Amino acid sequence: MLMSKLFVQTLREFPNDAEAISHKLLVRAGYIKKLMTGSYTYLPLMQRVLTKISNIIREEMNASGAQEVLMPFVQPASIWEKSGRWAVYGKELARLKDRSGNEMCLAPTHEEVVTSLTEGILSSYRQLPVNLYQIQTKFRDEIRPRFGLLRGREFTMKDAYSFHSSQEDLDREYEVMSKTYTKIFERCGLETRAVQSDSGAIGGKVSHEFMVLTDTAVGENDVFYCGKCGYSANSNHAISILNETETDGGFSSQEKVYTPDTRTIEQLAEFLNIKPNNILKSVFCIVDDKPVLVMIRGDKELEETKLLNAVQGLEMRYGTDEEIRQYFNCEPGFLSFLNINKEIKVIYDDTSKTMKNFVIGANEKDYHIVGYNFKETPETVDVSLVKEGEKCPVCKAPLHVTRGIEVGNIFQLGTKYSKPMNACYTDEDGSLKPFIMGCYGIGVTRVAAAAIEKYHDDFGIIWPKEIAPYHVVVVPVNVSDELQMNTAKDLYEKLQKEGIEVVLDDRDERAGVKFKDADLMGFPLRITVGKTINEGLVEFKVRKNGEMIKIAPDDVINKCKEYLK
Ligand code: ATP
Ligand code: MG
Repeated sequence: MLMSKLFVQTLREFPNDAEAISHKLLVRAGYIKKLMTGSYTYLPLMQRVLTKISNIIREEMNASGAQEVLMPFVQPASIWEKSGRWAVYGKELARLKDRSGNEMCLAPTHEEVVTSLTEGILSSYRQLPVNLYQIQTKFRDEIRPRFGLLRGREFTMKDAYSFHSSQEDLDREYEVMSKTYTKIFERCGLETRAVQSDSGAIGGKVSHEFMVLTDTAVGENDVFYCGKCGYSANSNHAISILNETETDGGFSSQEKVYTPDTRTIEQLAEFLNIKPNNILKSVFCIVDDKPVLVMIRGDKELEETKLLNAVQGLEMRYGTDEEIRQYFNCEPGFLSFLNINKEIKVIYDDTSKTMKNFVIGANEKDYHIVGYNFKETPETVDVSLVKEGEKCPVCKAPLHVTRGIEVGNIFQLGTKYSKPMNACYTDEDGSLKPFIMGCYGIGVTRVAAAAIEKYHDDFGIIWPKEIAPYHVVVVPVNVSDELQMNTAKDLYEKLQKEGIEVVLDDRDERAGVKFKDADLMGFPLRITVGKTINEGLVEFKVRKNGEMIKIAPDDVINKCKEYLK
């Protein structure tokens, strides 16, 4: 490729609507261009990266025995009604109508389509197992589309769905997919960790997320992991053994006390001279438009996904001060579950179970009740966020936390879709049974972004060689110098002949500009043909570590091959 012909324009500045470094760099280096919020054109350089990632995925999926299909992007509401998700999917699902008024949606995922696909094709246990995958566009009207390709509204996903006649066979395939995923990401130059996760809207019980762990990235997930036994889980799923704390507040009797200006746990703890873990705090939420009060130990925080699971909700937000006044007839900061409006559902976190003689709000401005004890221990559920340093639930070593970007996930769906959609096969004994299913996703565009989050520096992207758009850029310093230009062209042609993907920066620009662009775009290798060609030498530079050596043009091919193997 000639740089002068490449459809690209690098920018001097970062775009001002970008937060994530991958987003900033992809825009500035000319890989993507925004059409509207969360939706981007993939320019030629990007398209090459995505093709490489897709090809790696194809090769490994095919090797695992899965078969590629391509399902429609616009789907009829009827199949979503059958699965029960039309009513519950929420605003992420972009709905539309055709000219006859039939309701449809843009594909956020394909469980419904693939499950209905089996009808008339898969009918006997003898045809199982089957694993079907596709690489395709998805649309989700994400609540916070941001971070460029990390979380777009329109993005590319590889999704696979498997069908089985037994749980054991699903377990086997789940393992195969887990290994396949690790290999796919490794081949993309990314180390991943499979962490236990919540299954969310997709449903099912067993699921793992494949995370690229990065401390710096604006990854959206906190991952808790144990350095000793390898336990790791998304914060929405992680559990811990709490460190020993005094759960007795030490009050000898129950009393309503005047606690002015103590709206926060810290203020209240200081005022009463107790520890936050002797306060049972009230967190007021609105889940799917209904009021929910969460009671949780004062030193712990609410984990939103756990709460949604506990109340089988879809969307939650914290109640506003105004809503608090409306539901409790009380100022924020003094709430509790005592004598409240029956409409409010109360959830007790597991941490409330062992508390004694503790403090709660009095549902009256400036008052709390101290020395409270449950008459009957309420039913509790885990809705709290694990904290770094709490103990591993498996081996009790301290847990650590890091940021992670979820690049893929695997789920055991069981019969969650096949049952309501009546997708059945005939078993050995002649009976009809719903398929036992698994599903497996990879965010193709997110993999590219995650690679940049992981591999970049102040000058730009540092692509892993496996997914770089081109391996080498050849830069003649002065294009009007005949020897320099001829040598550069000669190298360009020879590299191409050897199957090495190369860009020749033939632009009549200052060398500094070309070097900057080369670094920004992130090609793994740069060959510079400058003045030293008069002594028979060119410069060979490795983007990753800045290593630079002078070599003869004749040695360039081997040197590149050696690096790229
Ligand atoms: P997340 O929790 O990040 O929203 P998800 O649980 O919705 O992900 P799935 O529906 O299982 O994800 O999709 C499979 C894969 O698709 C994810 O692992 C992720 O890599 C990718 N993905 C999901 N949503 C997006 C998005 N908005 N933009 C880019 N990639 C995405
Ligand atoms: Mg999502």
